[in-house]
Formats: sequence, C-alpha cells, structure tokens
Amino acid sequence: MPLLLNRKQLSRGGYDFIDEAYLHGLLERRAEPGEIRDIIAKSMAKQPLSVAETAALLSVEEPSLVEEIFGAARQLKRDVYGNRIVLFAPVYVGNECTNDCAYCAFRRSNVHEVRRTLSAEQLREQIVALENKGHKRLILVFGEHPRYDAPYMAECIRQVYATKTGHGEIRRANLNAAPLDHESYAIVKEAGIGTYQIFQETYHHETYRRVHPTNTFKGDFLWRLDGVARAMEAGCDDVGIGALFGLYDWRFEVLGLVSHALHLQKHFNVGPHTISFPRLRPACGTTLDETYFVTDEQFKRLVAILRLSVPYTGLICTAREPPAVRREIMSFGISQIDAGSRVEIGGYTETSDSQVMELEQFELGDIRPLDTVVRELLVDGYIPSFCTACYRSGRTGEQFMEFAIPGFIQNLCTPNALSTLMEYLIDYASPETRAAGENAILAEVEKFPEGERKRQLQNRLQRIVHNDERDLYF
Ligand code: SAM
Ligand code: SF4
Repeated sequence: MPLLLNRKQLSRGGYDFIDEAYLHGLLERRAEPGEIRDIIAKSMAKQPLSVAETAALLSVEEPSLVEEIFGAARQLKRDVYGNRIVLFAPVYVGNECTNDCAYCAFRRSNVHEVRRTLSAEQLREQIVALENKGHKRLILVFGEHPRYDAPYMAECIRQVYATKTGHGEIRRANLNAAPLDHESYAIVKEAGIGTYQIFQETYHHETYRRVHPTNTFKGDFLWRLDGVARAMEAGCDDVGIGALFGLYDWRFEVLGLVSHALHLQKHFNVGPHTISFPRLRPACGTTLDETYFVTDEQFKRLVAILRLSVPYTGLICTAREPPAVRREIMSFGISQIDAGSRVEIGGYTETSDSQVMELEQFELGDIRPLDTVVRELLVDGYIPSFCTACYRSGRTGEQFMEFAIPGFIQNLCTPNALSTLMEYLIDYASPETRAAGENAILAEVEKFPEGERKRQLQNRLQRIVHNDERDLYF
C-alpha cells in the first residue's frame, strides 16, 4: 500500500469548498422563465455566473427555453472565441499506476492491462509521428506512479520541445497528471509546461470515496481538489480542471466545476484556463456502473450551460466522443479539441485502424486522422488553429484575462490562427483539405477590417507561402 507521506502543504486557500448540502438544495429549485432570461442576459454581457445562477439554468426542462440556452451559448462562443477551434493531441507516456480508480483500465488491480512506459527513444518516435501529421500542441498523460515523478515528467517535456523534424516542432506541451506538491510543480514549470490539467473526476464526496479507494494517493479528495491551486501558487498559472461525467448526477458535477472555477477566481484573481468534461468510456477489464451515464441530450445541455457560466474559460471536447457528437456540440462553446488521437502507449507508431484496448486507458470514440478533422471543421465554417502564441508571449493566467477583451481575437487570435493554419496546409494537408483551407483563409482575410493589422497579416501569409518562413505570430 503506498504511504501518504509526501502530502505536505495545501495552498493558502486550501479547504474543501464543495458544500454538498448547498449544491443539492440549489438543484431542487426550479427557476421561472423570466429569471432564466435574466441569467442568460448576464452571461451574454460576458459576466461569469454564480453557482446558484448555473443551477437555475440546469433546472430548465422546457424545450423552447433549452433552445434559448443553446442559442445563447452559440452566440457567446462566437463573441468570445470567434470561429477558431484549437487543435492538440494527447501522448500517453506510461500506464503504470499505484491508484485503483474503478473506471480506469490503468488501475493497479487490472491484470488485463499490458503495462508499459515509453523509453526516451520511443517518446521521440511518438513526437516525430505527431509532428509529421502537423501537430504543434500536445498534452502528455501519465498514470500516478513513483516512476513518473516531477523530474521525470520535466525531462519528458524537455524532450518534446527538443524533438524537431523539418518544419515540425511542438510549441506547447501541456500535462495531465496527478496533483503534486509545490516544489514538484516548480520543477515541471521550469521545463516549460503550458497547462497543468487535473480532473477532480467527481465533486461528490461519497462517490469519490467509492471509486477511489482510501488506501491510494488518489483517495485523498482534498489533496486533489486543491491540486491546481497549489500549481498556481507554485507558478503554473495556467491550469485546467475537469469532471468525469457518468460517475454521479451530471447537474451536480456542473455545479462542482463552476464552484471550482469561482474558487480559483477568488483566490488567484483568475479562473482555470480550460474545463474538460469527459464522459465515461468502455475500458479494458473494467465494468462500468451505468446508473449516472449521461445521455447525448444531457451532454449537449451541460456543454451549453458551462459555456454560459464561465464565458472566458476554454472548453475542451476530447476524442472520447464520437464524430457526430463532437460535430454537433462544437457550436455550443467548444474552443479546443484533440484530433488524430491515439491513447495506446506507443499508439502513434505501433497501431493500425483498430484500437488496442489492453494498451489504452479507455476506448476512443473518434480516431479519424487529423487531416479529416481539419477538413470537416473547414466545411463547417470553423478555422482550425494551431496557435500557441499566448503561452509563448507570456499571455497566461491573469495576463490572459486582461487580454480576453474585445479586440483581442481580432488583433491576435484570428491572425495567429490563420497563419498557423496556412503553415499546416502547406506542410501537411491533403490536396482537398488544402483547397478548402486556402478558400477559408481568403474569406477570413476578406472580412478583416482595413488597416495596419490586415496588411501585416497578408504580408505574413505571403512570407509563409513564398519565403518558406514559419512561426510568425502576434
Ligand atoms: N493519472 C492521472 C490522474 O488520474 O489524474 C492522469 C490522468 S488520467 C491518465 C486521464 C483522465 O482520464 C482521468 O483524469 C479521467 O478523468 C479520465 N478517464 C479515466 N478512465 C476513463 C474512462 N473509462 N473513460 C473516460 N475517461 C476516463
Ligand atoms: Fe491511475 Fe489516473 Fe487511471 Fe486513476 S485515472 S487509475 S490515477 S491513471
């Protein structure tokens, strides 16, 4: 049994802020249409909603009001994020784990899983494979194991940045790993991580206890709840939170996520950079309890309501979801997706069109190639973006919030999205995708207001195409 030894200091505001009785009480109330419309209006003015206001939106069942929520979410997404969708890919580095999470194929008691950790050379091969597809942004994923301590994860991050091939390079590497102590966060920060992502899985204490045995590291609810706050204190000011939907009542989990975001906002003056809302997927050697499974209809609602509750937080929809669901919810407020993903250890070089369950944490719903996803986004009127500029220009955390104001998208995000898309089209896209992308870029440039920024953008696009220049960002 692992010892709970290195659980040291919580963050300054580190306490259990999930007041279950209060949250359940809010969920019992049904709001009137007038109140719902006032709340929607507040959100459209780009003000974050309170937990009580979020609960009111969650109480809506009447179909025409649900439609109003969807419509508002679509509008807010366009206002805050424009039509860009940022693309990334996960890299599973190792599936050793000392925890025993009931839903996860990596749990230590799962004898069906083939255990593996990539060697430095194998990691390099995965990165090269992703770069050759056109990826610029990754998230490294680890089980929780003494092998995967902070110096080890930092070394992996450094290796990712050092691996380059042709025009291929990774410009931003994020982490999804266990919560650390302050010193360990400082070590991974030093290696240049982008976002540190930790999912609480469930904000409901009893469910948390049920699926995370208390004799494991992960069994400590508060240590995990406080995880991203410690990360922020230690200088990783760009954090992601998430809940694993299907473990408990989806409405409660939405309130948990919003409580978490507001807690960070209160203590650090900035909320999480991203929220993820994975739904439970089949996993090797794992029987899932279906009591709280979330239907597609409920899933759409939760995404739209999150969009309205936290206007400035990026929403991530992963390839756990099948293509049709991803396509549909994209307009409700998604700002980032992974594409061309494989979650087997070594999956980018060693697998074919079918998934190898014994090597992955769960089964993916969408393993279409990046090129196919990029083309679909273009057909649907989105601008696929490989931009990593904010992080590299120091526009993170509080800084980012300052920038997330009108003019930001126009002057920075859209030009950067277009130039990184142009790089992708020239270096990696199929002829069909390239044609669709070039048309989309032309149309966007056309819409751009006349002025200095438009001229700069046109100049940069020309330099990418004709001078073979890369990585020109605002
Ligand atoms: N081991 C670290 C941890 O637990 O924080 C790193 C993250 S884990 C490898 C990635 C995430 O996958 C988990 O936080 C969990 O939310 C999600 N996950 C685990 N099992 C899953 C399943 N069966 N279906 C969908 N998502 C799952
Ligand atoms: Fe380990 Fe994370 Fe899987 Fe839990 S979810 S068993 S901590 S890899």
